Formats: sequence, C-alpha cells, structure tokens
Amino acid sequence: MGTPVASAYAELGLFIGGEMVSGGGRKSSPVINPANEEVIGQLPHATTADLDRALAVAQEGFRVWRAIFPDQRGKILKRAADLLRARAEEIARTATIESGKSIHETRIELGMSAAILEWYAEEGRRAYGRVLPQRAAGTRLCVVKEPVGPVAAFAPWNFPLGNPARKIGAALGAGCSCILKPAEETPASGLAVARALAEAGLPAGVLSIVFGVPQEVSSHLIASPAIRAISFTGSIPVGKQLMKLAAEGMKRTTMELGGHGPVLVFGDVDVESVLDQSVTAKYRNGGQVCVSPTRFYVHESIYPRFVEGFAARAKGWPVGDGLDEKNKMGPLIHARRVAVIEGFVQDAVACGGRVVAGGKRLRSPGYFFAPTVLADVPNTARIMNEEPFGPVAILNPFSNFDSVIEQANRLPYGLAAFAFTGSARIAKLAGEKLEAGMVGVNTYAISVPESPFGGVKESGHGSEEGIEGLEACLVTKFISEA
Ligand code: NAD
Repeated sequence: MGTPVASAYAELGLFIGGEMVSGGGRKSSPVINPANEEVIGQLPHATTADLDRALAVAQEGFRVWRAIFPDQRGKILKRAADLLRARAEEIARTATIESGKSIHETRIELGMSAAILEWYAEEGRRAYGRVLPQRAAGTRLCVVKEPVGPVAAFAPWNFPLGNPARKIGAALGAGCSCILKPAEETPASGLAVARALAEAGLPAGVLSIVFGVPQEVSSHLIASPAIRAISFTGSIPVGKQLMKLAAEGMKRTTMELGGHGPVLVFGDVDVESVLDQSVTAKYRNGGQVCVSPTRFYVHESIYPRFVEGFAARAKGWPVGDGLDEKNKMGPLIHARRVAVIEGFVQDAVACGGRVVAGGKRLRSPGYFFAPTVLADVPNTARIMNEEPFGPVAILNPFSNFDSVIEQANRLPYGLAAFAFTGSARIAKLAGEKLEAGMVGVNTYAISVPESPFGGVKESGHGSEEGIEGLEACLVTKFISEA
C-alpha cells in the first residue's frame, strides 16, 4: 500500500446488515492494480457465518423494503445516483486503478451507473398489474406484480460499476433485497455503489456485498431457500453451472453470458467512418466487453482498404496506465487473460491467419497486450469459435449476403451483432436475420437504461435494464375475488 496511487485506494470489506466488516481472522486475497501489478488492498473473504448473516438480513431487508412504497424507494435510488455523480472523479479513479480501463471509460461508466439507478427508481413505480373483464357479476379478477424476493447477484470485473448498478438497481427497483458478489478483482467499485445507497437512506440489510472464492460463495447463496432469483454476468460455462444449482430450488435466473460479436461491413459504407467507430468499439476496455465487435466480415470490394486502415489505427492506439489521460486502452485484467490472448493469436497464425497489427505482449510490469488485428483467419482457428475477450479484431472478406449471414450465425453465441450499410433494404434484412439479443445497425451504441440488454442462444436469457430488467425481479400473481 506504499505508492500515492495505492494510498488513495478505498477501504475494503464486506458490507452486511449496513456495516462494513473486515479483519477478524478472515481469509483475504490481494487486490492488484493490473497496470503495474502492485498490491493495492487486501480483500476479506466472507466466512460461512458471514454468508448466513447476509442471507438472514436479506430476508429481513426484503420484508422492510417491499413495505416501502415504490415512489419512496425511488427517491432513495435517485439520491444514490446523485451521490455517485457528486463523487464521480474519485470513484472513476478507483474503478480505473482496480480494473485497468481508461479513466475516460470509467467516467462514462459512472454516469451510466447513476442513470441506471434512476431508471429503476422510476420504473419501479410502473410495476403495473391489470384488472380482467368479469365473467360473473360481483367478481373481481386481478393480476398483480410482486417482488420475487431476495436476489443473489454475481457481477464480473469488466464493468466494475455498471454491472453492480444493473443488478442492484433491478432488485431494489422491484422491491427485492439483494446480496451482490462483485468480482474479487474490482471490489471497491461495487462497494462505492453500495456506500452511495446506504448514505442515500437504504435500510440496513436490503443490500449486502460479499466476496470470497466465487464458486464457494455462489453455491452457498444459491442453495439457500432465502434466495428466490439469481442474476449472473460472466462466462457461459459458469452460467451453466449456476443454472444447475438454481434448478435445484426452481429459482429464476437472468444469465448475461459471453458473446462473439459479428460485424458485417457492406461495400457501400463510408469506410473511414466505419473504421473509426470500429477501432474505438473494439479496443474499449481492451476488448474485455461481452458485446465487443470480434469477427469483422468485410465486403471484398473494400476489404484490402479496411484491413490496412484497421491495422494503421491499431498500431497508433495509445495504450498504457488508464489513469493517464492520454491513454485510450489500459492493461488486461490479469496475467491469465494475457496468456489466453497470446495462445489465441499463436493458434490463429498456425491455422493460416495473418497478424497485421500487434499480436504480442507489451511492457511489463502490467498485463498489457497490444491492440491486435488478425486477417484471413479460417474457421478452424480457436479464436473463430471461442470468445477472445481481449484486444483482437478478426477481419475476413465476404462476397454475398446469404453466406455472410450464415457465417455470422454459425456459432452458439447470440449476444450482440452489428451491420454497417448504406442500404435501407440490407439494414432491415440484417436486423431481421442476425441471431442476437441486440443488433446495432450503423452503430455500436446498443445499450441505454431504457433498452433491454441480453442474449439469445448460449449467450443467456433474460434481460437487464429496460422494462424487462424490472420484470426479471417480479412475479405475477392472479387474484380472483367472488
Ligand atoms: P471466469 O469465468 O473465471 O470469471 C468471470 C466472472 O465470473 C468473474 O467475475 C468471476 O468472479 C465470476 N465467477 C467465476 N466462477 C464463478 C462461480 N462459480 N460463481 C459465481 N461467480 C463466478 O473468467 P475470467 O478469466 O475472469 O474472465 C474471462 C471469461 O469470463 C471471458 O472469456 C468471458 O467469457 C467471461 N466474462 C464475461 C463477461 C460478460 O460481460 N459477459 C464479463 C467478464 C467475464
């Protein structure tokens, strides 16, 4: 904890029953700044007794919170959003220090997180039921929406503020309590969201934050009869494991899993403009984004120019410590990811692909990998089939619409897909034919608080944000009165 950066890092602990808990002989793990590999904090892990306490207070918190009327609940969520904004710079720095992503990105993410809390603050007031037409005199047939109950949520490190805000916002907006396990890599960001809510007046116990060995925490929480819904963002294999656990208790799940975003670039576009947008989207958070554009299918008429333009931009992309304003890309989250990306690149080359930019580790200390562009990569390469989750763009040419749609849809993923075209007809067809939960046509902007965010096929089910995000935390009850 010696450096000026590290000493500015937040206090870490578990947050249970409205109190920060740490020490007491609990096991702990170091939190590392991925830009320089310095230890910036020690994160206490929840004991079984801590988890049981979080479960107990979540049950009591649910009883208290659901009894508060939605407009009052909304006021607390809105106050928390204001507090986040008032502390924007401090929290954005914290998020950058622990996640590595650029300060420009964490500032935007902070604003988005506040907006998400506000969305749920408002949407909670619209958990409408309905009254059905009678079938007999003197009867009343009502459909009402009720909060599902305590939610166990698991958020990854790639959006250290946004992922917690989405999960907490949905649960609290619907009147549920929530136990959140943010990623152990980025604990202080999730705690900052919880702190803002607590200071905004959230009753103790409505929200708890726990950390530990992910598999141990999730299996304990999901097995508890107190938990009625699970929300997970992360990899497909972990999502499948958690669904099996949830099935034991017939608990509903929201699964926001991996993607392998195809991008169709047709021959009639403004190539330079699409390149500028694509490079920015690809290297956002070092490509560690579930909706990252990954497989670029570029019409053969503009393919050579596109490859050259992408490579030139990637080579000049400023990479370094995310706290330095001049950098647009920081390090990857941990050493493991650097090794994974390196393996993907080597395999792609062995399969006949070409590295046209990057392809190698950058300076150390720090988990840096160069913005990379691969061209002409066959479908036999691992990276054409497995989510890279790193700063690698894969470019391949195509010649006709039907075959490129077939390529785009050939994987079991279905999260985000993109198409760039000047033709209204192709835009409409691409929107229809791409198998994805979210399709960007002539844009990479596919997420606002009002829009549902989620995937199809193995990319998961259920949505966060939008009216669907609230619905995930509500159950439907039919009341028939005679
Ligand atoms: P990982 O699968 O070990 O971890 C991903 C996230 O899931 C982490 O936050 C981790 O704490 C959590 N997790 C892991 N096992 C868990 C369990 N049993 N119960 C609850 N939470 C658990 O992999 P990683 O190396 O940290 O990340 C790489 C992979 O994760 C990527 O390939 C990508 O597919 C996926 N990922 C996806 C998203 C997303 O936004 N969909 C975000 C982060 C990671």
